[in-house]
Amino acid sequence: MAVPKKKTSPSRRGMRRSHHALVAEAYVECGNCGELARPHHICSHCGYYDGREVAAAGDALKGVVRA
Ligand SMILES: [Zn+2]
Repeated sequence: MAVPKKKTSPSRRGMRRSHHALVAEAYVECGNCGELARPHHICSHCGYYDGREVAAAGDALKGVVRA
């Protein structure tokens, strides 16, 4: 098994962790129903995208929209 030769310094550890910050999820209001939806995705509430219905609303959407 590969084993590190030296202990990671606090500086190196900090440099590695500089990319670990969490970013807030982006959400916009749906133009049709006003629910929060992911930008550039169909609305998970009403199935609309770009002003028209592209997927049937309701339980059928669960297979189409990921969160
Ligand atoms: Zn909507």
